[in-house]
Amino acid sequence: MAESLTPHTFGSPAADTAFRSALDVVRAVEPRIAAAIGSEIEDQRASLKLIASENYASPAVLLAMGNWLSDKYAEGTPGRRFYAGCRNVDTVESLAAEHARELFGAEHAYVQPHSGIDANLVAFWAVLSQRVESPALRRAGVRNVNDLTEQDWAELRRELGNQRMLGMSLDAGGHLTHGFRPNISGKMFDQRSYGTDPATGLVDYDEVRRIALEFKPLILVAGYSAYPRLVNFRRMREIADEVGATLMVDMAHFAGLVAGKVLTGDFDPVAHAQIVTTTTHKSLRGPRGGMVLCTSELAEHVDRGCPLVLGGPLSHVMAAKAVAFAEARRPEFQVYARQVVDNAHALAEGLLRRGARLVTGGTDNHLVLADVSSYGLTGRQAEAALLDSGIVTNRNAVPQDPNGAWYTSGVRLGTPALTTRGLGTAELDEAADLIHTVLSATSAAGSSKAQYVLDEAVRDAVAKRAVDLLAGHPLYPGITLG
Ligand code: PLP
Repeated sequence: MAESLTPHTFGSPAADTAFRSALDVVRAVEPRIAAAIGSEIEDQRASLKLIASENYASPAVLLAMGNWLSDKYAEGTPGRRFYAGCRNVDTVESLAAEHARELFGAEHAYVQPHSGIDANLVAFWAVLSQRVESPALRRAGVRNVNDLTEQDWAELRRELGNQRMLGMSLDAGGHLTHGFRPNISGKMFDQRSYGTDPATGLVDYDEVRRIALEFKPLILVAGYSAYPRLVNFRRMREIADEVGATLMVDMAHFAGLVAGKVLTGDFDPVAHAQIVTTTTHKSLRGPRGGMVLCTSELAEHVDRGCPLVLGGPLSHVMAAKAVAFAEARRPEFQVYARQVVDNAHALAEGLLRRGARLVTGGTDNHLVLADVSSYGLTGRQAEAALLDSGIVTNRNAVPQDPNGAWYTSGVRLGTPALTTRGLGTAELDEAADLIHTVLSATSAAGSSKAQYVLDEAVRDAVAKRAVDLLAGHPLYPGITLG
């Protein structure tokens, strides 16, 4: 796996010196914060990170974030700012957008969103602006909402708040931001969701089409947090076109597989959707943040993200996004993305061979959803027992989950982080063995959905094997703390 990373990624003397010096500077002001930062690298070194939404950003990405770009206000877009003195931020934002367009083959990129949730909010309002607000302004013969009469404004606000969205249901793997009530999207939109076929666990496009024809959404959302298979975006676009919806894809989880050219053709969201949102910190391996890609027709609407729903752009994070996208444009990133999927296959196969039950019976992407009820456990018990044994995962609902979203019956496992660290398929098979060993040695305490009993000898033996597994793939070995 060495070729998927520049070999010195987590151990170059220059990076070690930079991080050591940075910690010294922080320690001189607030030693407890320096200690927490140091403790985090120790935790990350010591555990098998199988959280599907996490990764390890490179030193170049991390260092591009920690600097004086943070001090600059830059509302607006490059060349059109509401603040003076933005020439360096203009360079940073333009480069980040250019790299993003090239990387994904997009007509337009907006790199300001601070997170995936923010990117989705920008995208929803871009579609509302294009399809509801702009026509209302045209009808009223004005260019700006400030020029509408009180009556027209009241009517437009009613119309904006009365639109429909169709997205994947939460327990099929959709995300809270796709129109669910706890999120602002659920309060803004009248929402329906499509699930997966109970027999196969797969998206049933005929069923999506049936619901879309009946419900007639303004926005059809595709994309997921916990679906282990591919989505055919060409098919989704056909459905959207048939019902007059805008297709929005949230590729937060699998953007790295799109960037790395693993998801191409029908499975490339950028080729088919009018608007695509993403986080930059999951499989894409950049800084924590978000981004919106879109067609030229939507560009002017997307660019209004700040101050519509976003605060001032985080210039330092946009710099780190530019660095991450430049890294992802290198051929090595395609090797990485392919290895992420190969590793997920190895993990899934390893678990299945040992008797685990997986939602959809396997994976085609970077994640695996194990149904741990076959071990007599809730997701919460399994997650905690694995953590005790040095394996970091997160619990997740499975389709039609009898244990709900808090306790759940599933554990979601993903390979982007361990692949960055350099682990290959044999090691992911060993990881499958560790997971199966822990879950087989864990039992529910009475009827509790949270308490559990884990054999201590098994716990300690697995924790040692997890450390051994990582020993050949050190994380910043030149940085010693304490
Ligand atoms: N969209 C999807 C599909 C996600 O999985 C997530 C993160 O969990 C988000 C959006 C939100 O991203 P963030 O946490 O950066 O706001």
